[in-house]
Formats: sequence, structure tokens, C-alpha cells
Amino acid sequence: MAGIYERLGVRTIVNAKGSATRLSGAILPEEVAQAMAEASQSCVDIAELQAAAGAIIAEATGAEAGYVTSGAAAGLLLGTAACVTGLDPGRMNRLPDTAGMKNEVVMPRSQRNFYDHAVRAAGVRIVEVGLPDRFSGAGVRDAEPWEIADAITERTAAVHFVAQPWSRPPLADIVRIAHAAGVPVLVDAAAQLPPATNLRRFIAEGADLVVFSGGKALRGPQASGILCGRRDLVMAAALQHLDLDIDWPLWSPPPGLIDKRLLAGAPHHGIGRPCKVGREEIVGLITALRLFLAADPEARRAAWHVQLATIADGLGGLPGLTARLDGSGEVPLLHLVLDHDAKLGAAELAERLQRGDPPIHVDHARLSENILRCNPTCLKPDQPAIVARRVRELLT
Ligand SMILES: *Cc1c(COP(=O)(O)O)cnc(C)c1O
Repeated sequence: MAGIYERLGVRTIVNAKGSATRLSGAILPEEVAQAMAEASQSCVDIAELQAAAGAIIAEATGAEAGYVTSGAAAGLLLGTAACVTGLDPGRMNRLPDTAGMKNEVVMPRSQRNFYDHAVRAAGVRIVEVGLPDRFSGAGVRDAEPWEIADAITERTAAVHFVAQPWSRPPLADIVRIAHAAGVPVLVDAAAQLPPATNLRRFIAEGADLVVFSGGKALRGPQASGILCGRRDLVMAAALQHLDLDIDWPLWSPPPGLIDKRLLAGAPHHGIGRPCKVGREEIVGLITALRLFLAADPEARRAAWHVQLATIADGLGGLPGLTARLDGSGEVPLLHLVLDHDAKLGAAELAERLQRGDPPIHVDHARLSENILRCNPTCLKPDQPAIVARRVRELLT
């Protein structure tokens, strides 16, 4: 019988771009897919499942508590909401109306990005700090620690930090300043895996909440993510995420996740309810996390190198094209550098690759330099040869 995508009339693609959401994320290890299928065959109390998953996440991250979200962006919304409301069910019910609450989130201007829409969705205003004046070539500074301190007021719900190897100021400085003012720090570390050590790093540096994507290098379900950090904040996030269509006397949430004794009452469906998480995602994420932690990073990297070498080997001797391996990042990339001798420019080549059969998607972050990049993380074993053959056809 034809496969599911064939029956739907949807083409499968060769993904040399990596685990982008628009290209449907990572390819799940067989064990993850099987765990999700098995999970789908029984009903459970979803809060109990979240508590069990949270304990595993806490163990893996060194955080007090963990929770499975529908993605890193959902984690930003839930985490921000938790910082605004604390454990006050009345405030939870009023979001995204934050009148009378702490409703500002401070962040370095250089770290603004379109995922911070998820922060703003909780009903807060972002207060930008600092000018990255090295952008102009005139200066060397980014936001400075004292400027963060200067921007924190009694309205500040959180400081938001987006983790990249080049993020400034360093997280440790931000944590020191925010904590001196009693303000929590929320870290977006969506794509900071590997290395696996980053699972613990931001918590160890003092972050109060950290989010990771489940559907990127973790190779979990595309609609999954991790929120981890302080127990009270994870509890506040869970309360604004879980289906709380419950009767108070009958409600006995798992104490590891929600301590009912701390609550004046249960909030109604919270601001996070539209980004609900199914049992399949929770089980899939936890299975993927375990596999990721057990994997040998050297072996994984060696396998990626083999994939890229197969592409490079198939492209030798093409006029106008130099294939150059870039091993500087956590994930090695193959740069296809085009010059005027090439039959097509990078943009045209990328477009033709996408239009072919099967469609091939490559990374076009450096299109303006006439470079296409191949990322090995979502390529199946037979696909590097397909990429090389097609590029060769198009450039010959
Ligand atoms: C991918 C990404 C996100 C969104 O992650 P999802 O898991 O797709 O919700 C947020 N922030 C950054 C920096 C990312 O790279």
C-alpha cells in the first residue's frame, strides 16, 4: 500500500536544511515513534504524566522542576505568564490583561527576535536595553550589566535572555543583577543542543526558567519542548497550561508538580491552554531526551561528517563550485560556494533544488554571499547522494 504522504498527495522532501519547523522538524528515532504509538493506546491522567516527565527533566537539567511544552516558544509564553502571576489564580484568570501586575520584561535590544512574540503574548511589554553599537563599526559595546540594572523597576516581571554563543552581556552577569532586585531570569535556549552539557548549563548559571525545543537536535516530536527551572514557577506554568475543568474537592494533582495547599483555588483554563500537549508528545519527548543523553556525541558527529563527505565527493570538478566543510559549530555544515563560473547563482540553484522531484531544501542563511549550506541532521542515509546528483545535474 502507498505510504501515508503518498495517499495524501503530499511530497516527501530531502531535508538538507536541518530541523526547521516549516520543514516539519527532526526525523524521529524509531524508538521515539514507537513510544508515541504505544502511548496513544491508553488514557492516563495528563497531570500525572507531566509530573513523571517533569521529574526526568529535572534530573537531566539539574533544575528543581521540569515540564513538557508544545515547543520552546510555548515555554516562553508559559514561563513569562508564570513570572507575571506567581501562584495567584485570580491573576492567572485575568491574563493577558496585566493591569495592576508586574507587566514588563527587560531584555537586551540585541537579543530581540521574532520568538519574543511568545513573551509578549502573555500580556507584557518588552523593555529593550542597550545599543549594540559594534554594529556600526563605531563601538565595541552591547547592552551592559548596569543598563539592565537601570531598567529594572517594580513593574519588572522578568529579565529575558536569549542564549547564543555570542549573547551579551553574559548570563551570569544578568542573573546577578536580576536576582539582586528579586527578579527571575527566563532563558530561551531553544536551539542550544548539542552539546548535551547545555541541558544543565543555564540552570547552573542561575537561570530561573529555561526552555529548549524538543523537535530540533533532541529529535523529539516537532510539537514538543522543555520548560525547566524553579519549582514554584514551573507549578505556575502548569496551572496555566493544564485542563483545569475540575471540581476542587475531587482535584488531587500530583504533589511533585502542583502543591494544592499553596493555592487559594484553582484557576480556570489559563493563557497556555491553546498550546496543549498530548500524551504522545510527552512520552515522545522523554524518550528522545533519554536517547540524546545516552548517545555518543563523537559517533554522532562522525556520522554527520560521513553524510557531508558523500555530498562533497559527488560534487568534485564542477565549474564554479567549491564544496567546503565547516566544522566550527556543534553541527558540521557543508558550504557550497558558488562563483561567476557556476551555471547558476545560489538563489537560483536553491530554487531549482526545491522545485525538483524530490524537492531538496538546503540552508540559505548565506545566500547573499552566494553560498548554500547543507546541514546533515535531517538527511536519511540514501539522501546525500541524491543531493549531490541533483546539484551536479543543475550545474552541468
Ligand atoms: C527554534 C527556536 C524557537 C522556537 O522553538 P519551537 O520549539 O519551535 O517552539 C525559539 N527561540 C529560538 C532562539 C529558536 O531557535
